[in-house]
This record gives sequence, structure tokens and C-alpha cells, in this order.
Amino acid sequence: MSLSGRALKRKKKIAEWVVRIEALHKKYPRLEEISRLFAQMSLEIALMGMGKGKMGMSHEELLKGQETLQAEKSALMKQYNLPNNMYNVWWDCEKCQDTGFIGIGEKCSCLLQEEIQTRLKCSGLGPEQKQQTFNTFSLDWYEDKERYRLILQQSINFAEEICERKKAENLFVCGPIGIGKTHLCSAIANYVLKAGVNVVYLKSGKILEMLREYKFNLDKFEKSFHNELKSLFRVDLLIIDDLGTEVATDFVREQLFYLFDERINYQLPWVISTNLMPNEIGKTYEDRLSDRIMGTSKILKFTGQSIRQLKAISMKSSK
Ligand SMILES: [Zn+2]
Repeated sequence: MSLSGRALKRKKKIAEWVVRIEALHKKYPRLEEISRLFAQMSLEIALMGMGKGKMGMSHEELLKGQETLQAEKSALMKQYNLPNNMYNVWWDCEKCQDTGFIGIGEKCSCLLQEEIQTRLKCSGLGPEQKQQTFNTFSLDWYEDKERYRLILQQSINFAEEICERKKAENLFVCGPIGIGKTHLCSAIANYVLKAGVNVVYLKSGKILEMLREYKFNLDKFEKSFHNELKSLFRVDLLIIDDLGTEVATDFVREQLFYLFDERINYQLPWVISTNLMPNEIGKTYEDRLSDRIMGTSKILKFTGQSIRQLKAISMKSSK
């Protein structure tokens, strides 16, 4: 929720509180009386401090009176089965009273949580992918465990560098389908999202579709679409899944080059996952794109049998 959204929500909560107290006092007039008397005494105490008291009561008497009123109020509330916080505004978050901040500039945990949810929502990760983490990346499925232990470690290192906003080498994750590349990319995304990094995760086909739509309908687009497109170029971390599955037309080559070139200029990292081997990038697209990608990336090469198939086999045999 935006800050103005929060301000609006706070206003509603306060309005709800006023209505609730009015209804309460209508139902239980004695409670209203107690509130009024209590407030009068508070005012009198303040006036006495300025030498303008007019009730003719001493400071002690006033405090004692307030104490008695408070006790009566508590007893009545108990008798009427009213919650203890009846007289409070019912904030969603007591800590920050729904402002999102504790003190000056310190974000409340509720705001941080909300920001993670927003980032997750904007990330483009599917429901299944949101559950894929480094912890659930199992080495059991791989024969060459050493290779995958290293791949996992390199991915974690990458994610940590991103979180610390250090300059990280991009990742080029390649290998056949169904072998865990997507899981690894999702794990990186989930890890950095929690640390406040904005991520966009997209299939390369989808990216090109967006670029195509944009180019050919330049005048028709609304601001929201411009922002969506801008995020491809400027988001903290861009993860492109399945590069190489689209047909490499001149348009595709040009746009991809432009995208990677821009991100290099702004020193913004990416992860590419692809079925193409490193030497195939130049053939599929063009050498200058291959230079841009391979010249800035660490290669994580997946090999072996499809985990998806292995999982399917093991599920069948365990039935
Ligand atoms: Zn809060």
C-alpha cells in the first residue's frame, strides 16, 4: 500500500473509532459520563498548573477522583463484556499505528512485510516458483553431486552479492530442460526479494512480446505499460527464463542487444536461463550480443538426466 493509501486507511480507522465510541456511549450513558468527568478533571489539573483552577479541588483530590472513575469504568466494561481496547483505535499494527514507521525514518515490520509481498507480486514468479528456495534445491537428484554443490554455492554467492549491492558477475545458467534451472533461478529471486531487492522474472518470449507491442503501438500505450517496460531495463535484478526459445528475427536480435547493453551501462545484473550452450548464443543471435552476455557472465552448466523425468519415475515406482 502506498503512503497515501496508509494515510487514508488511518483516517478510516479513526472515523470508525469515533462512531464506535458514540454508539457505546449511547448504549451505556454512565460510561459517557465517566469519560466526560475524567476529561474535566484532566483539564482542571492542567489549569491548576497555570494557577487558574476553578473546581476548588486539590491536586490530590483530582487524581484520587480520576482513579475512582477509572476503577468504575473498568468494572462496568467487565460487566458489559467489552474488550479492554474498546477505547482505542483498532489499528492493524499497534507498533506503528498503521503509519508504517516507528520513529523517524525507521520502517515498521508490517511495512517491510508489505513491501516483500509487493515485490513478490511484481516479480512475475508463479505460485510454485514462490516456494522454490536454496534449501529445497536437492542434490539428491543429481549424479554429479560435486558439480551441483558448486553450482548451488555460486548461486548463493551471487544472491548475497546482489543483496549487499556489490557488483556481481551475471549468471548464465544453461543445460537441457527439466533439470532444475528454473528452481535455481526462482531460489535466487526469492532470496534477494526478501532482502529488499526488486526482481523481474520473465520468459524471454514474454519480454520480446512486450517489446514488440511497445514498438508497434508506441502512441497507444498508457503510463502503466511504460513503467512495466521500463522495469525490464532498470529493475535491480532481471531474470530471463528460456532464452533462445523465441524465433530470432532481426527485431529480436536488435531488442535483446539493446536490453543487455542498457543494463551493462547501468551496471545492473541479470540471470539468464537457457537450453543454448554458450557457443550457440552467437549463432542463434549475433556475435555482438554473445560478446555482451558471455563477456559479463559466469557460466553454470547443468548436465545429465531430466529431474522432471526422474521424479515422475520415482513417483510411479513408489505407488
Ligand atoms: Zn507497523
